[in-house]
Amino acid sequence: MAVHEIREMGDPVLRTEAEDVEDFSGGLSSLVRDMFETMYNAEGIGLAAPQIGVSKRVIVIDLRREDEPDAQVALVNPNIVWSSDETEKATEGCLSIPGLEEVVQRHLAVRVEALDPKGEPVELEADDLFARALQHEIDHLDGVLFVDRVSAFKRRMLMKKWKKLQAEEE
Ligand code: ZN
Repeated sequence: MAVHEIREMGDPVLRTEAEDVEDFSGGLSSLVRDMFETMYNAEGIGLAAPQIGVSKRVIVIDLRREDEPDAQVALVNPNIVWSSDETEKATEGCLSIPGLEEVVQRHLAVRVEALDPKGEPVELEADDLFARALQHEIDHLDGVLFVDRVSAFKRRMLMKKWKKLQAEEE
């Protein structure tokens, strides 16, 4: 198992549409293990493969600490096949954009079809935080970040803050 460096906003891999996984014969279980390991190490609740520089449609989520006992999943090629009309606003952050948080409006509930790491089909329905995490991580597979999901005004504020944080790091 290995903890990987988490790519940060500005890295092109985060803006690239990730590829479907078609070959389940090798490597996938070690990718999933590394993703969980990297996520736990960063104290995150979700991670998408592009965040460790792998442009494949794989996500992991673990919300067991957030009182969601069933919400530990590794999903391959996930698709949102239904989403509720009802939406919910809550504050979001992202391991690839450390230091920034903003209120993001998401569907309250979603249904997702995907494959498990062995290639077996899975379907799950989620609401609240679990639904939010699924939408956030699946966005990553399309090169979308949470800062794209806020108003233009808020995005400008966020980008300003991000530049300031980056400058302080140097
Ligand atoms: Zn993220």
